[in-house]
Amino acid sequence: MTTKETKLYDILEVKPDVTENELKKAYRKLALKYHPDKNPNEGERFKQISAAYEVLSNPQKREVYNKYGEEGLKERGGGGFGAGFNPMDIFSEFFFPESREERQTKARNTIHPIQVSLEQFYVGATRKMKFTRDVICKKCNGLGAEDKADIDVCKKCNGEKVEERQMRFGPGMVQTVQYECSGCNGEGGTIKKKCKSCKGKKKVQEHKLFEVHIEKGMANGEKIIFRGEGDEEPGLERGDVIFILEEKEHPEYTRQDTNLLLNVKLTLNEALTGCSNNIKTLDKRDLHFNFLPGEIVSHNERKVIHNEGMPFKNDPSNKGDLIITFKVEFPKKLTQEQIKEISKIMLPPEVEIPEDAVIKNAVPVSAAHIRRHRQKYDKEESDDNMHGHQCQQQ
Ligand SMILES: [Zn+2]
Ligand SMILES: [Zn+2]
Repeated sequence: MTTKETKLYDILEVKPDVTENELKKAYRKLALKYHPDKNPNEGERFKQISAAYEVLSNPQKREVYNKYGEEGLKERGGGGFGAGFNPMDIFSEFFFPESREERQTKARNTIHPIQVSLEQFYVGATRKMKFTRDVICKKCNGLGAEDKADIDVCKKCNGEKVEERQMRFGPGMVQTVQYECSGCNGEGGTIKKKCKSCKGKKKVQEHKLFEVHIEKGMANGEKIIFRGEGDEEPGLERGDVIFILEEKEHPEYTRQDTNLLLNVKLTLNEALTGCSNNIKTLDKRDLHFNFLPGEIVSHNERKVIHNEGMPFKNDPSNKGDLIITFKVEFPKKLTQEQIKEISKIMLPPEVEIPEDAVIKNAVPVSAAHIRRHRQKYDKEESDDNMHGHQCQQQ
């Protein structure tokens, strides 16, 4: 018996029993993290992540892989793991599932993750992003050759650029898959005399500046689309450029839909005698709030300031709420003098000691101590299970 292969699962940092949903989440996280825009040196990693997802997101391929490993994928046609596909296709299909149908008529969309701070989501921002895009070579109009007569049409695909192959999954299950023609590498023919401007590539690259307008109240994961401003491909509609907004972590504020969460520290004195506090809002305003004297705030108590959360996207003059959680900082130790003073104003409860009471000290608990007891407790619990749930009379 061979040990089970888990390489593809390892690449996506998931366990082999991962659900479809968790798999999607894992791919989403890693694909954005290792996207070539952010990590130009991790191109190979990005490719591996996409290839692993391509296999594991297809239930039939996943079954083949679980049973027979990478070798099984190769044997069952389709060239095996990572062969004959473009990681950007997987990426754009994941974020734009509708693009599969468009593939035949439209050039690939270009997707760029863009990091946005919480402040920018709060006040809105315009980000200038410069990228290169493919445009059809003007010299040869996308022919790649100096003249039409300079092209030999591929005999294998008749210039269609694709060939079909049968892929077997399990008994009796066959799927027809289209692949780039192996005779011409999907070019449709060979160019005898290449265009000097594009060197036969039919396309050249140009720089393009995009002004991305982030509206107040937009959120993590939102997409800003520039229709028809992406890559050009001969014979196809122009692709789109799509920016995916990713929220950067903020050191103080946490966003929860339209609410903002904030932790505020209080001294014990403030918690007991009332406080007055200043907060800097995300648009740099000073916000001042009070508690009434005599109002006591407990540790982890929450209070809300209305209309100081995130602006609503379609109605930015209205905002969600600011929810403050108070963290009361207790003093570590008091002097005898302080204890005496406090006891004067807050009388300690008088506890009577029963005559035959056992007298002990309560001491701080150490982590090792908890571990030891947890193990003991767990063990007792499993012993109980072994005996079933019978009551044991003593
Ligand atoms: Zn061909
Ligand atoms: Zn050209």
